[in-house]
Amino acid sequence: MYPHQPEGSHFVEGAYRDDREGTPFQSCFPADGRVIARLHVATPAILDHAIHSAQNAQAIWRTTSLSERQQVLRRVAEILRDRNDELARLETFDTGKPISETLVSDPASAAECFEYYSALSPTALQGSTEQTDTGTIKVLKEPLGVCVGIGAWNYPIQIAGWKAAPALLCGNAMIFKPSETTPLSALKLAEIIAEAGAPAGLFNVVQGDGKVGQWLVEHPGVAKVSLTGSVATGKKIHAAATAQLKHVSLELGGKSPLIVFDDADLEAAVEGAAAGNFYSSGQICSNCTRIYVQRSAFDRFLELFIARAESMKMGDPLDPETEIGPLVSEHHAESVRTYIELGLSEGATCVSGGPNSVSMAADGTYVRPTIFTDVREAMRIAREEIFGPVACVMMFDTEEEVIGRANATELGLAAGIYTGDNGRAERVAHQLQAGICWINTYNEYPIAMPFGGYKQSGLGRENGLLVLDHYTQTKSILTQSR
Ligand code: NDP
Repeated sequence: MYPHQPEGSHFVEGAYRDDREGTPFQSCFPADGRVIARLHVATPAILDHAIHSAQNAQAIWRTTSLSERQQVLRRVAEILRDRNDELARLETFDTGKPISETLVSDPASAAECFEYYSALSPTALQGSTEQTDTGTIKVLKEPLGVCVGIGAWNYPIQIAGWKAAPALLCGNAMIFKPSETTPLSALKLAEIIAEAGAPAGLFNVVQGDGKVGQWLVEHPGVAKVSLTGSVATGKKIHAAATAQLKHVSLELGGKSPLIVFDDADLEAAVEGAAAGNFYSSGQICSNCTRIYVQRSAFDRFLELFIARAESMKMGDPLDPETEIGPLVSEHHAESVRTYIELGLSEGATCVSGGPNSVSMAADGTYVRPTIFTDVREAMRIAREEIFGPVACVMMFDTEEEVIGRANATELGLAAGIYTGDNGRAERVAHQLQAGICWINTYNEYPIAMPFGGYKQSGLGRENGLLVLDHYTQTKSILTQSR
């Protein structure tokens, strides 16, 4: 038996299920390659079961009162918090992220999301009534039906929670497909949602690769798809879903700028830059991988940033002192290493880390925090998402210049500004083409803050009140006055 073997590969209609006809696949601990669970890709029989049970559960759930739904969500948050340590450990085994992170970030963020939507005022989903000369107009916000969530491998339980909580609050059912690389924690979330009192089938988890995702996206019984993943996958899902005029939300990649003015608290800016490049070994979509530092602060910032990067303890992700764990897979580490070599061949200077700091040994695929200077925007390392601990530090002179350079990208997920001048911070934030701007902080995600990107970083938003528009549709009823 494997140490994290679930009772079944899928969670459908309130119980673990399996179908051994499905192609087998495994989940490994990235720190040593050990197999931790063996599962099967969902077969058509499992997928049909998931669709039918979600449809049946949604028919019940949509008629329950908002306060009943909120009670279930509140209970989910409580169970997630009660089981935080066990879930964090599972997430560390599945992703390789340090336990020091998963204990505070992953199930905790999912719990925060369920808590936020469980506490929303009923007015958030209340429609409106207006008396006019023609009659009474009632505007209702109604659920969409069966929604599909598709997740990336970097924050598996957080992604599942961020999609499930608002979808269920609005009266929908959900079928969630985690990444094949990290299939385990979404199953636990499904178990917890069932335990919290949701009707069987309200939140189902099915396993598989992109083909299973595609089957779900194209199924006529699915009303909406919400993806967290790469731009390339986002485009495919958008094309397939909109061909049937389905609702789509896309949380995609980024190549976000961090702008550090010379009046900033440089130590705070270095902490923001380290969090925004090296947390989770850099495998975070909103990371600030293009750091622009104003000329007179450049040398000091770089000195502090290198010292911070080199002080980070890399090693066993189960050691509570570890700050840098392995990357999620050898395949992904190879891609990051290739980008580091590309940076050198493009003429950038590596001032910390580098290709020789990449370990591809059987005992895990580690990459040391890597910092490049002498980077030009035309270089691929400054344009493409690397999704590893690789930062480019560049120099700028004026506010106008840096805004132009920060915006010169096809992506627009996030941006950060460090300055002691609040007026300047606001002025710059208003001009940045990014869905999320942080001022004197970076990569903080309170659930009240809508999350999502401009340009090719996505469509729609997660979190905040805004996401409710993406899980509801409007019905207008006119009753004629006699
Ligand atoms: P991918 O785009 O490769 O995969 C995302 C999910 O889509 C996986 O579950 C994958 O299945 C599935 N999938 C792949 N092809 C299809 C298809 N044709 N139809 C339906 N589903 C499909 O992303 P990664 O998992 O590699 O994650 C990394 C990416 O995610 C990065 O670009 C990162 O920026 C982005 N991301 C964005 C975030 C945001 O909120 N904006 C947050 C976190 C990550 P499988 O992998 O099992 O084959």
